[in-house]
Amino acid sequence: MDEIRIENLEIYAGHGVFAEENRNGQPFFVNATLYADTREAGQKDDLTLSTHYGEVSHLIHKCMREKTFQLIEAAAEYAAEQVLLQFPLVKSLSLEIRKPCAPIGLPFESVSVRIRRGWKKAHLSIGSNMGDKEQYINEAVEKIKAHSFIKNVRVSKLLVTKPYGGVEQDDFLNGAIELETLLSPIELLHFLQKTELETGRERKIHWGPRTLDLDILFYEGVISQTKELMIPHPDMQNREFVLKPLAELCPYYMHPLFHKSVKQMLEELPR
Ligand code: AMP
Repeated sequence: MDEIRIENLEIYAGHGVFAEENRNGQPFFVNATLYADTREAGQKDDLTLSTHYGEVSHLIHKCMREKTFQLIEAAAEYAAEQVLLQFPLVKSLSLEIRKPCAPIGLPFESVSVRIRRGWKKAHLSIGSNMGDKEQYINEAVEKIKAHSFIKNVRVSKLLVTKPYGGVEQDDFLNGAIELETLLSPIELLHFLQKTELETGRERKIHWGPRTLDLDILFYEGVISQTKELMIPHPDMQNREFVLKPLAELCPYYMHPLFHKSVKQMLEELPR
Protein backbone atom coordinates (compact mmCIF):
# COMPACT_ATOMS: atom_id res chain seq x y z
CA MET A 1 0.00 0.00 0.00
CA ASP A 2 1.25 3.54 -0.81
CA GLU A 3 1.98 6.00 1.98
CA ILE A 4 1.16 9.67 2.52
CA ARG A 5 3.16 11.05 5.44
CA ILE A 6 2.74 13.99 7.76
CA GLU A 7 5.78 14.58 9.94
CA ASN A 8 6.13 16.50 13.18
CA LEU A 9 2.88 18.41 12.99
CA GLU A 10 3.17 20.70 16.02
CA ILE A 11 0.03 21.15 18.10
CA TYR A 12 -0.28 23.00 21.39
CA ALA A 13 -2.81 21.12 23.56
CA GLY A 14 -3.72 20.21 27.13
CA HIS A 15 -3.49 16.40 27.32
CA GLY A 16 -2.06 14.94 30.51
CA VAL A 17 -2.93 13.45 33.88
CA PHE A 18 -1.96 16.57 35.86
CA ALA A 19 -4.33 19.54 36.21
CA GLU A 20 -1.48 21.98 35.33
CA GLU A 21 -0.98 20.15 32.04
CA ASN A 22 -4.68 20.49 31.22
CA ARG A 23 -4.67 24.14 32.26
CA ASN A 24 -1.40 25.38 30.75
CA GLY A 25 -0.96 23.06 27.78
CA GLN A 26 2.28 22.08 26.07
CA PRO A 27 3.53 21.23 22.57
CA PHE A 28 2.77 17.85 21.03
CA PHE A 29 4.17 16.54 17.74
CA VAL A 30 2.19 14.22 15.51
CA ASN A 31 3.51 11.87 12.86
CA ALA A 32 0.94 10.20 10.66
CA THR A 33 1.37 7.72 7.84
CA LEU A 34 -1.76 7.20 5.77
CA TYR A 35 -1.93 3.95 3.81
CA ALA A 36 -3.92 4.36 0.61
CA ASP A 37 -3.72 3.46 -3.06
CA THR A 38 -2.38 6.62 -4.77
CA ARG A 39 -1.85 5.12 -8.26
CA GLU A 40 -4.87 6.57 -10.03
CA ALA A 41 -4.39 10.02 -8.44
CA GLY A 42 -0.73 9.87 -9.48
CA GLN A 43 -1.48 8.82 -13.05
CA LYS A 44 -4.22 11.43 -13.54
CA ASP A 45 -2.58 14.14 -11.40
CA ASP A 46 -5.95 14.64 -9.68
CA LEU A 47 -6.25 15.55 -6.01
CA THR A 48 -9.91 14.48 -5.86
CA LEU A 49 -8.67 10.88 -6.32
CA SER A 50 -6.26 11.16 -3.39
CA THR A 51 -6.32 12.24 0.24
CA HIS A 52 -5.52 15.90 0.94
CA TYR A 53 -2.73 15.89 3.54
CA GLY A 54 -3.58 19.50 4.44
CA GLU A 55 -7.14 18.58 5.35
CA VAL A 56 -5.94 15.55 7.33
CA SER A 57 -3.45 17.77 9.21
CA HIS A 58 -6.22 20.24 10.09
CA LEU A 59 -8.49 17.41 11.25
CA ILE A 60 -5.75 15.99 13.51
CA HIS A 61 -5.13 19.52 14.85
CA LYS A 62 -8.87 19.93 15.57
CA CYS A 63 -9.08 16.49 17.29
CA MET A 64 -6.08 17.31 19.49
CA ARG A 65 -7.51 20.72 20.47
CA GLU A 66 -11.25 20.09 20.85
CA LYS A 67 -10.92 17.48 23.62
CA THR A 68 -8.57 17.15 26.56
CA PHE A 69 -7.47 13.61 27.31
CA GLN A 70 -5.42 12.32 30.22
CA LEU A 71 -3.52 9.95 27.96
CA ILE A 72 -1.83 10.47 24.61
CA GLU A 73 -3.09 6.93 23.88
CA ALA A 74 -6.64 8.31 24.03
CA ALA A 75 -5.78 11.37 21.92
CA ALA A 76 -4.19 9.06 19.31
CA GLU A 77 -7.19 6.72 19.33
CA TYR A 78 -9.61 9.62 18.77
CA ALA A 79 -7.58 11.30 16.02
CA ALA A 80 -6.96 8.00 14.17
CA GLU A 81 -10.66 7.11 14.32
CA GLN A 82 -11.73 10.50 12.95
CA VAL A 83 -9.24 10.35 10.04
CA LEU A 84 -10.45 6.84 9.11
CA LEU A 85 -14.10 7.89 9.32
CA GLN A 86 -13.71 11.12 7.35
CA PHE A 87 -11.25 10.07 4.63
CA PRO A 88 -12.63 6.96 2.93
CA LEU A 89 -9.57 6.40 0.72
CA VAL A 90 -7.40 5.88 3.81
CA LYS A 91 -7.43 2.12 4.42
CA SER A 92 -5.28 2.30 7.55
CA LEU A 93 -2.94 4.66 9.32
CA SER A 94 -0.11 4.78 11.76
CA LEU A 95 -0.32 7.69 14.16
CA GLU A 96 2.34 8.76 16.61
CA ILE A 97 1.99 11.47 19.25
CA ARG A 98 5.18 12.74 20.86
CA LYS A 99 5.22 14.72 24.08
CA PRO A 100 8.70 16.25 24.48
CA CYS A 101 7.78 18.38 27.53
CA ALA A 102 6.07 15.61 29.54
CA PRO A 103 6.55 16.24 33.30
CA ILE A 104 8.92 13.37 34.02
CA GLY A 105 11.51 15.19 36.16
CA LEU A 106 14.45 13.57 34.37
CA PRO A 107 16.36 14.62 31.26
CA PHE A 108 14.82 13.00 28.15
CA GLU A 109 14.21 13.83 24.53
CA SER A 110 10.63 12.76 24.03
CA VAL A 111 7.98 10.21 24.99
CA SER A 112 5.44 8.96 22.49
CA VAL A 113 2.78 6.45 21.59
CA ARG A 114 2.26 5.07 18.11
CA ILE A 115 -0.84 3.15 17.08
CA ARG A 116 -1.84 1.44 13.84
CA ARG A 117 -5.55 1.35 13.03
CA GLY A 118 -7.54 0.54 9.93
CA TRP A 119 -10.60 -0.86 8.20
CA LYS A 120 -10.65 -4.66 8.34
CA LYS A 121 -12.78 -6.99 6.26
CA ALA A 122 -14.88 -9.47 8.25
CA HIS A 123 -17.33 -12.21 7.26
CA LEU A 124 -20.28 -13.29 9.37
CA SER A 125 -22.94 -15.96 9.26
CA ILE A 126 -26.48 -15.08 10.23
CA GLY A 127 -29.36 -17.44 10.93
CA SER A 128 -32.81 -17.67 12.48
CA ASN A 129 -35.32 -20.48 12.99
CA MET A 130 -38.03 -18.98 15.15
CA GLY A 131 -40.93 -16.63 14.48
CA ASP A 132 -40.63 -14.19 11.60
CA LYS A 133 -37.12 -15.30 10.59
CA GLU A 134 -36.69 -12.93 7.67
CA GLN A 135 -37.79 -10.02 9.83
CA TYR A 136 -35.23 -10.90 12.55
CA ILE A 137 -32.48 -11.17 9.97
CA ASN A 138 -33.42 -7.90 8.26
CA GLU A 139 -33.58 -6.13 11.61
CA ALA A 140 -30.09 -7.37 12.52
CA VAL A 141 -28.69 -6.37 9.11
CA GLU A 142 -30.10 -2.86 9.58
CA LYS A 143 -28.43 -2.62 13.01
CA ILE A 144 -25.13 -3.79 11.53
CA LYS A 145 -25.39 -1.24 8.69
CA ALA A 146 -26.20 1.54 11.16
CA HIS A 147 -23.03 1.06 13.23
CA SER A 148 -20.69 4.00 12.64
CA PHE A 149 -17.61 1.73 12.69
CA ILE A 150 -19.00 -0.57 9.98
CA LYS A 151 -19.24 0.13 6.23
CA ASN A 152 -19.58 -1.56 2.83
CA VAL A 153 -21.99 -4.23 4.13
CA ARG A 154 -22.93 -6.93 1.58
CA VAL A 155 -25.54 -9.57 2.36
CA SER A 156 -26.00 -12.88 0.54
CA LYS A 157 -29.33 -14.33 -0.51
CA LEU A 158 -31.02 -16.17 2.35
CA LEU A 159 -31.17 -19.93 2.24
CA VAL A 160 -33.72 -22.28 3.86
CA THR A 161 -31.92 -25.18 5.57
CA LYS A 162 -32.81 -28.15 7.71
CA PRO A 163 -31.79 -27.86 11.37
CA TYR A 164 -28.37 -29.13 12.48
CA GLY A 165 -27.67 -31.03 15.73
CA GLY A 166 -30.62 -33.41 16.04
CA VAL A 167 -33.12 -31.26 18.03
CA GLU A 168 -36.73 -31.25 16.69
CA GLN A 169 -37.27 -27.69 15.45
CA ASP A 170 -38.33 -25.44 12.56
CA ASP A 171 -36.21 -24.95 9.39
CA PHE A 172 -33.45 -22.33 9.49
CA LEU A 173 -33.04 -19.28 7.33
CA ASN A 174 -29.32 -18.67 6.82
CA GLY A 175 -27.16 -16.08 5.14
CA ALA A 176 -23.70 -14.55 5.10
CA ILE A 177 -22.51 -10.98 5.51
CA GLU A 178 -19.34 -9.26 4.39
CA LEU A 179 -18.35 -5.92 5.90
CA GLU A 180 -15.48 -3.61 6.71
CA THR A 181 -15.03 -2.48 10.28
CA LEU A 182 -12.94 -0.43 12.67
CA LEU A 183 -14.06 -2.67 15.55
CA SER A 184 -11.50 -5.13 16.87
CA PRO A 185 -12.52 -8.82 16.65
CA ILE A 186 -13.67 -8.91 20.29
CA GLU A 187 -15.53 -5.60 19.96
CA LEU A 188 -17.25 -6.97 16.86
CA LEU A 189 -18.23 -10.15 18.78
CA HIS A 190 -19.67 -8.10 21.66
CA PHE A 191 -21.61 -5.90 19.23
CA LEU A 192 -23.05 -9.00 17.51
CA GLN A 193 -24.01 -10.53 20.89
CA LYS A 194 -25.78 -7.28 21.81
CA THR A 195 -27.56 -7.33 18.44
CA GLU A 196 -28.66 -10.95 19.07
CA LEU A 197 -30.14 -9.94 22.42
CA GLU A 198 -31.82 -6.80 21.08
CA THR A 199 -33.51 -8.73 18.29
CA GLY A 200 -35.14 -10.93 20.91
CA ARG A 201 -32.82 -13.93 20.89
CA GLU A 202 -34.10 -16.80 22.94
CA ARG A 203 -32.41 -20.14 23.19
CA LYS A 204 -33.17 -22.68 25.83
CA ILE A 205 -31.34 -25.74 24.52
CA HIS A 206 -27.91 -26.05 22.87
CA TRP A 207 -28.43 -26.51 19.11
CA GLY A 208 -32.09 -25.59 19.80
CA PRO A 209 -34.27 -22.90 18.21
CA ARG A 210 -33.04 -19.31 18.22
CA THR A 211 -34.51 -16.08 16.92
CA LEU A 212 -31.11 -14.90 15.76
CA ASP A 213 -27.61 -16.29 15.61
CA LEU A 214 -24.63 -14.25 14.44
CA ASP A 215 -21.13 -15.72 14.19
CA ILE A 216 -17.81 -14.35 13.01
CA LEU A 217 -16.39 -16.59 10.28
CA PHE A 218 -13.30 -14.64 9.19
CA TYR A 219 -11.66 -11.42 10.32
CA GLU A 220 -8.90 -10.07 8.06
CA GLY A 221 -5.44 -11.04 9.26
CA VAL A 222 -6.65 -12.64 12.51
CA ILE A 223 -6.39 -16.16 13.85
CA SER A 224 -7.85 -16.45 17.33
CA GLN A 225 -8.00 -19.64 19.37
CA THR A 226 -9.57 -18.54 22.64
CA LYS A 227 -12.79 -20.13 23.89
CA GLU A 228 -14.54 -16.78 23.75
CA LEU A 229 -13.50 -16.15 20.17
CA MET A 230 -12.41 -18.68 17.58
CA ILE A 231 -11.45 -17.18 14.22
CA PRO A 232 -11.80 -18.66 11.65
CA HIS A 233 -15.02 -20.16 13.00
CA PRO A 234 -14.03 -23.73 13.94
CA ASP A 235 -16.97 -25.52 12.33
CA MET A 236 -17.52 -23.45 9.20
CA GLN A 237 -15.83 -25.95 6.88
CA ASN A 238 -18.46 -28.60 7.81
CA ARG A 239 -21.55 -26.45 7.29
CA GLU A 240 -23.17 -26.10 3.92
CA PHE A 241 -25.53 -23.44 5.29
CA VAL A 242 -22.47 -21.30 6.11
CA LEU A 243 -20.33 -22.01 3.03
CA LYS A 244 -23.08 -21.70 0.40
CA PRO A 245 -24.13 -18.11 1.18
CA LEU A 246 -20.51 -17.17 1.90
CA ALA A 247 -19.44 -18.50 -1.51
CA GLU A 248 -21.93 -16.14 -3.10
CA LEU A 249 -20.09 -13.17 -1.51
CA CYS A 250 -16.45 -14.25 -1.67
CA PRO A 251 -15.89 -17.61 -3.44
CA TYR A 252 -12.12 -17.18 -3.67
CA TYR A 253 -11.47 -15.91 -0.14
CA MET A 254 -8.85 -18.18 1.43
CA HIS A 255 -9.23 -19.94 4.77
CA PRO A 256 -6.04 -18.87 6.58
CA LEU A 257 -5.44 -22.26 8.26
CA PHE A 258 -6.62 -24.74 5.62
CA HIS A 259 -5.38 -22.64 2.69
CA LYS A 260 -8.54 -23.51 0.76
CA SER A 261 -11.00 -21.11 -0.84
CA VAL A 262 -14.60 -20.91 0.33
CA LYS A 263 -15.67 -22.39 -3.03
CA GLN A 264 -13.28 -25.32 -2.63
CA MET A 265 -14.46 -26.05 0.94
CA LEU A 266 -18.05 -26.02 -0.32
CA GLU A 267 -17.23 -28.39 -3.19
CA GLU A 268 -15.42 -30.75 -0.80
CA LEU A 269 -18.38 -31.14 1.58
CA PRO A 270 -19.63 -34.74 1.71
CA ARG A 271 -22.92 -34.99 -0.22
P1 AMP B 1 -23.51 -19.61 19.72
O1 AMP B 1 -24.53 -19.21 20.70
O2 AMP B 1 -23.61 -21.00 19.24
O3 AMP B 1 -23.38 -18.59 18.59
O4 AMP B 1 -22.11 -19.55 20.49
C1 AMP B 1 -21.75 -18.41 21.15
C2 AMP B 1 -20.50 -18.66 21.98
O5 AMP B 1 -19.41 -19.01 21.13
C3 AMP B 1 -20.10 -17.43 22.75
O6 AMP B 1 -19.73 -17.83 24.05
C4 AMP B 1 -18.89 -16.89 21.98
O7 AMP B 1 -17.98 -16.23 22.85
C5 AMP B 1 -18.31 -18.16 21.39
N1 AMP B 1 -17.59 -17.96 20.13
C6 AMP B 1 -16.35 -18.45 19.87
N2 AMP B 1 -15.95 -18.13 18.63
C7 AMP B 1 -16.98 -17.42 18.04
C8 AMP B 1 -17.16 -16.83 16.76
N3 AMP B 1 -16.22 -16.90 15.80
N4 AMP B 1 -18.33 -16.17 16.51
C9 AMP B 1 -19.30 -16.12 17.46
N5 AMP B 1 -19.18 -16.67 18.70
C10 AMP B 1 -18.04 -17.32 19.01
